[in-house]
Amino acid sequence: MQHLSHPVTRVVPISLCERNGQLHHVLRKYKDSPNWQVRAQLSVQVAALMARFLATHRSCIQRAASGTWEALTVVPSSQQGTGPHPLEHALSLISGWDEILVTTLRPGAAQLGHQQADDHGYEIVVGVAGRSYLLLDDTFTTGARLQSAASALRLAGAHVVAAVVIGRFVNPEYCAELLQTAKTDRYDFAPCCLE
Ligand SMILES: [Zn+2]
Repeated sequence: MQHLSHPVTRVVPISLCERNGQLHHVLRKYKDSPNWQVRAQLSVQVAALMARFLATHRSCIQRAASGTWEALTVVPSSQQGTGPHPLEHALSLISGWDEILVTTLRPGAAQLGHQQADDHGYEIVVGVAGRSYLLLDDTFTTGARLQSAASALRLAGAHVVAAVVIGRFVNPEYCAELLQTAKTDRYDFAPCCLE
């Protein structure tokens, strides 16, 4: 965050994501499985996770942020080709929810890495000034990409209300105790980290 002028301080993870665990598998393979049927099936799971969480905890995020958003926007992926982001594609599979999804960013001039965040890591592709967004990503590791995206949006005059990520990546080598504690309770959609 110290590399950036406007990181977002409110980051809401849906779940911890253990390295090589089931959620880690889902969040990787919905994007890069060579089998399109696997990608399709896992994309539905990813979209359902995000949609259910937002439906349940939208008001918690709004309360914590003292504000709301006009649209959702997704952090561009590092291996993204020319098509839409896999998360954007997955969310577009959901019918009957009233969230608006807008593509606001593409990779910019500065190189990004796990330890390298930069205000110029992304550039803006639509008018965002004066608009408010909820920033979404599938996996949060160091946050360098997500925070670079948040900062680019803020520098262009947008308000980033908060960020929601599906999996907060955890390496068991460094966080064995945290994981052990987390695993004593079954996953439950009812509470969130803002409560
Ligand atoms: Zn909540």
